[in-house]
Amino acid sequence: MKLTYPIYKNDCGWNALLPESPPGQSVSDDITCDVAIIGAGYTGLAAARRWVEHSPGDRVAILDSSDPGEGSPGRNSGFLLEISLANDADPTAVDRMRACNKMIAAAMADIVELVNRFDIQCNLARSGTYRAAAGEEGLAALEAYVAFLDAAELPYEKLARAELQQRIGTDFYHAGLYSPHCYLAQPAALIRGMAANLPRSIALYQRSPALGIRRVGDTWQVKTPHGDVAARTVIVANNAFAKNLGVGRSRVAAIYTYAALTAPLTGNHLRRLGSDQAWGLLPAHRLGSTLRRTADGRLLIRSCYDYESEADNDTVASILTDALRRRFPFLGEFSFAQVWGGATGLTLNGAPLWGNIDDNLYVSAGCNGGGVVKGTLFGAALSDLAHSKPVPDLQKLFGRASWMPPDPLRRIGFELISGLERRRGKAEI
Ligand SMILES: Cc1cc2nc3c(=O)[nH]c(=O)nc-3n(C[C@H](O)[C@H](O)[C@H](O)COP(=O)(O)OP(=O)(O)OC[C@H]3O[C@@H](n4cnc5c(N)ncnc54)[C@H](O)[C@@H]3O)c2cc1C
Repeated sequence: MKLTYPIYKNDCGWNALLPESPPGQSVSDDITCDVAIIGAGYTGLAAARRWVEHSPGDRVAILDSSDPGEGSPGRNSGFLLEISLANDADPTAVDRMRACNKMIAAAMADIVELVNRFDIQCNLARSGTYRAAAGEEGLAALEAYVAFLDAAELPYEKLARAELQQRIGTDFYHAGLYSPHCYLAQPAALIRGMAANLPRSIALYQRSPALGIRRVGDTWQVKTPHGDVAARTVIVANNAFAKNLGVGRSRVAAIYTYAALTAPLTGNHLRRLGSDQAWGLLPAHRLGSTLRRTADGRLLIRSCYDYESEADNDTVASILTDALRRRFPFLGEFSFAQVWGGATGLTLNGAPLWGNIDDNLYVSAGCNGGGVVKGTLFGAALSDLAHSKPVPDLQKLFGRASWMPPDPLRRIGFELISGLERRRGKAEI
């Protein structure tokens, strides 16, 4: 039997930098509510917030297998892109991409409003993002992205190798660009702040994994280790693990990726980091590594992908150390302060699994590598859909998650494609 929720090998590195949270409640008995939301990530919380805007009297229960900040939503690299990811950007479908970007920007504005309203201390800043290439494949991908930005009339600044080095302290990248449409945040602090400031009619149950969902008469029963949750409506927002609850089995896979943070750099190391004090860099090639310099002078690197199981974090740490040292050789011998893995929901064509799949049963999963903002958008839209409110045709705009063969074919396909892409994007790993 596959696990219906993630159990990670290492603690979340971002969460480890924060003070301990007060303990929350868990499901300890049977519960009845109007709507049960599985997953307290960006998608689940957005669905819950929008639900109570439409139905303020409803009792909403959110079930999460982890604690806020410690689980998947706190484990990402903290890029909040206001426009489509490079891999999604299609210069031949500019009107569609513009419509998507408009919705993504509106979701981002909602996040900014929330952070400001509740004074969530997550270092949210519109730092923009670098996108840079270190090999031929990456340079080709960068050109394709430039074509999209031009067609969409989005601003950017092209940067040669020396300009990148001057700003971020590495000459590793041969060319790049800077575009302003991206916020950076401390993701564990962001999701903790969101979870701590939910409207009163929403109850968040931590450490309460959904183990199964079944229909009993006209209600849904969600089984948890210490009680069943009965609800008229269920929203499945647990991303990569939805399929292990029987939802989207043929459309979403769990992909693990890894990140590491150094301790704050000091002295000569800090001085050699370039003129930009806090920045984020996304790889031009989709299998490349992500980099960040945090406001407190740490470096973050994110890299590597594994299908359906988390690799040994010590092995990953040595790969990440090597990748960071190739970018910043002056670091010499160093060890990371934190190394961790996280699961994200991958779909074959990058489109989400989204919509109404059964009587009062809804799902949003598979935001691939961009779910902080997109999850916020899709989660809220799911509650709109459940309330028969007008919803843009998300499947036409963002696409529909395509079918994937079952294992072992799926695993073989993933290993083949990622092996090939890894070779192509080797220069940016
Ligand atoms: C290392 C890393 C770096 C990334 N970097 C970025 C980035 O910079 N920007 C970006 O936008 N995205 C990034 N991503 C992807 C991003 O984290 C996801 O797309 C995003 O978190 C999706 O949000 P979500 O709410 O849909 O799902 P998730 O964040 O996965 O949340 C799902 C929630 O459901 C819970 N859950 C799972 N199963 C169960 C169950 N059975 N019962 C109850 N609860 C359950 C989990 O604990 C979790 O809290 C990254 C991912 C990783 C791993």
